[in-house]
Amino acid sequence: MANFDVVIVGGAIVGSSIAYFLREEGFSGSIALVERDPQFAHAATTLSCASIRQQFSIPENIRLSQFTLRLFRDLKSRFGEDADIGFREKGYLILAGEAGLDILKSNHAAQAAEGADIVLEDPMALERRFAWLSTEGVSAGAYGRSGEGWFDAHALLMLFRRALKERDIAFLSQPVTEIARAGDKVTGVRLADGEMLSAGTVINAAGPDAGKVATMAGLVLPVEPRKRSVFVFEARERFEDMPLMVDPSGIYVRPEGSVYITGGAEDEESEGPANADDFNPDWPLFEEAIWPVLATRVPAFEAIKPTRAWAGHYDYNTLDQNAVIGPHPEVANFIFANGFSGHGLQQAPAVGKAIAELLVHGGYRTIDCSAFGYERIAAGRAFRELNVI
Ligand SMILES: Cc1cc2nc3c(=O)[nH]c(=O)nc-3n(C[C@H](O)[C@H](O)[C@H](O)COP(=O)(O)OP(=O)(O)OC[C@H]3O[C@@H](n4cnc5c(N)ncnc54)[C@H](O)[C@@H]3O)c2cc1C
Repeated sequence: MANFDVVIVGGAIVGSSIAYFLREEGFSGSIALVERDPQFAHAATTLSCASIRQQFSIPENIRLSQFTLRLFRDLKSRFGEDADIGFREKGYLILAGEAGLDILKSNHAAQAAEGADIVLEDPMALERRFAWLSTEGVSAGAYGRSGEGWFDAHALLMLFRRALKERDIAFLSQPVTEIARAGDKVTGVRLADGEMLSAGTVINAAGPDAGKVATMAGLVLPVEPRKRSVFVFEARERFEDMPLMVDPSGIYVRPEGSVYITGGAEDEESEGPANADDFNPDWPLFEEAIWPVLATRVPAFEAIKPTRAWAGHYDYNTLDQNAVIGPHPEVANFIFANGFSGHGLQQAPAVGKAIAELLVHGGYRTIDCSAFGYERIAAGRAFRELNVI
């Protein structure tokens, strides 16, 4: 039986970032990074919209994204001169109607207090700023002038994975099928080929399957896969200044090279968990819900041509759509890094750093993540992020 000080279940952006920062923080023990899908064909990381924002309601979420933003700005000194994730700092524009106005204002106040470069504008100012926009039914919009945008998720993941190759990490390409537990400790993980790895600490970085992995350890985690469809369309006009725009309905759109991507029409109240192998986009969402909204919000989008679509699974925390970070209070060597519910890619570098600090130094140093702890899950006490896209 192989022995590891740390076994990380899931080797996409969260698992890779944790392994990377463990070494950065000086962890010298053995680390196994176990990934069942080494091409990342179905990982949320590679199927995401790869966008980063500071427009959250909770200060900790703003701080996590700001950490990642600093890492983006410092990418070459950290990962080498050839490091490039194609970061397009084009901003988010989050629109609110009358019903969402108070929340937009209070979110903006929270963001301003964290030093985020977001401006709150009335409909007239918005139409002056963006000539293509119709503000019908809009009471205000919050626009990120800097520090927000989109990037290449696969490229970011590959930078972390490449860096890990020089940092003495065991890469194991297999599913974890069981987690062994003795009382208030996890003791190891079993791989699909039957091999048992003994583990000093097990870290759950299994994305949408984090709930299943927690169950293997006899623990309850309210994280499940929720299917999210993303549609690609062509339009005659190219709007170079278009940020990632979120309509008051929750439908979003942003440029992607010479085309646009859009989504956000799922009904969170009525949907259930996704089937593990269902990655088929729900085309009716585009026809029935998305296109009418786009045509109203951007009149030039009345004539557009959808060309393709994909679907991925959100790592959806059904309690409060927010991350669960840190140890289980009773099984202290089982660590969660889960439940990001649509904003985990941009938080992953910061979360990797936070978990590494916890394991190496015994506490958070850079960003206090205690509010994301499992204790609230056990108590059923929501720590709700209001700006979930
Ligand atoms: C359509 C879509 C759009 C999104 N847009 C954004 C966005 O714009 N910005 C943003 O910040 N976030 C976005 N997200 C969310 C973001 O992608 C996720 O929160 C983030 O990628 C989670 O990273 P992860 O490493 O935890 O999960 P994943 O990337 O899913 O990785 C988990 C890995 O664990 C592996 N695994 C699972 N179970 C086992 C097991 N038993 N044994 C071995 N390996 C296992 C899986 O194979 C997988 O590779 C989006 C997600 C989707 C689906």
